[in-house]
Amino acid sequence: FQPTIHPLDASLAPNDLAAFWMPFSANRSFKQRPRLVVGAEGMHYLTGEGRRVIDGAAGLWCCNAGHCREPIVKAIQGQAARLDYAPSFQFSHPEAFTLAARLAALAPGDLDHVFFANSGSEAVDTALKIALAYWQARGRGSKTRLIGRERGYHGVGFGGISVGGIVTNRKAFGTLLTGVDHLPHTYDRDRQAFSRGEPDWGAHLADELERIVALHDASTIAAVIVEPVAGSTGVLPPPKGYLQRLRAICDKHDILLIFDEVITGFGRLGTAFAAERYGVVPDLMTFAKGVTSGTAPMGGVIARAPIHDAFMQGPEHTIELFHGYTYSAHPLACAAGLATLDVYRDEGLFGRAAELEAAFADAVHGLKGLSNVLDIRTVGLAAGVDLAPKAEGPGRRGYDAMVAAFHDHDMMLRVAGDTLALSPPLIVTEGQIGELVEKLGKTIQAVA
Ligand code: PLP
Repeated sequence: FQPTIHPLDASLAPNDLAAFWMPFSANRSFKQRPRLVVGAEGMHYLTGEGRRVIDGAAGLWCCNAGHCREPIVKAIQGQAARLDYAPSFQFSHPEAFTLAARLAALAPGDLDHVFFANSGSEAVDTALKIALAYWQARGRGSKTRLIGRERGYHGVGFGGISVGGIVTNRKAFGTLLTGVDHLPHTYDRDRQAFSRGEPDWGAHLADELERIVALHDASTIAAVIVEPVAGSTGVLPPPKGYLQRLRAICDKHDILLIFDEVITGFGRLGTAFAAERYGVVPDLMTFAKGVTSGTAPMGGVIARAPIHDAFMQGPEHTIELFHGYTYSAHPLACAAGLATLDVYRDEGLFGRAAELEAAFADAVHGLKGLSNVLDIRTVGLAAGVDLAPKAEGPGRRGYDAMVAAFHDHDMMLRVAGDTLALSPPLIVTEGQIGELVEKLGKTIQAVA
């Protein structure tokens, strides 16, 4: 993969940045010194001045097939010209069914039924609602409590931030959903620092679910939701055996287990889904991002057959689940999804991530010893590097690193507080892994 990027017209740079209130951004700082990209190809973004910026983050953990891949671009173009939009309330179109079947085939076990949404946040809220409605349908409507986890990120809907465990995403938004509890997070630097892959220590933290069950009683608990690898909080792989233990406790107490696979899906961990890597089949699985390699908004939930079937009762003309979005199974997103799955399959990209995992881990762990590096975690093609906060407070060093990486080292990087995250497209070469890590090292030195 050696993309050639042609400099685009620099006049694409906007001269008025005021109107766009940017999401999850430091708007005022950005607008003083913008970081704009105007094109992309393969592993790179292109700036208006013609700089090639290597993508260390797969956009936002989504462009797993790399950028502007021809088969995906063509599929979207063709679909836009053929069928621009079709509702999926009481009508639909063929690509929706084909994509659902392809996703069901990709998901492990009897995760066989796909409900489409348009983002990870919508996918999460959909999964939580399916969990609640499932117990209603089974005549066990007292099971309403939802259990999330500290440091979990499940998007920004009210459901997602309620079960999520990142305080900054919660504190400004009132009381949120009631009837929510949280497992402890699984990170302990003293016991896990600089581990490669899943840390040895921490499986017993799943037993905290037993404590929560003892407190509330299983008859009040609908579901537990976790990210198999917590991503947005700074890449926390699950301790060895943790997810298996969570599954066993959920089974014991008739509690649904939801895996939020929005970033772990589509090859990030070297398998189609984390469920496959860990040999644990959840009852509901969310997905988004990589399903279209970021080319069109799409998310969704894959449900195990018995969950789905519990809804298929009553008169056949009645709607079984009162939920859905205008753009559920949007034709452009479905076409993008189908073409993306073809690219993943034809290029063996999930296996490629697995093959590169050791080299990637070696390279990133080579940054140990640089100033301010407190911990490094790697799993699949994802890494988190914790830096010590600056004296002025948490987040400043991470922010400065992201800015320096883009302007001075031609690299797009994702940061969470003072944690720098690497999650390159799965087409990354070993040479480009070396380049990314070298640039990361220079960035860390630049903010020392
Ligand atoms: N769930 C997880 C695990 C995520 O990482 C994200 C986004 O990063 C989301 C949900 C939310 O996805 P979106 O931003 O598409 O709403």
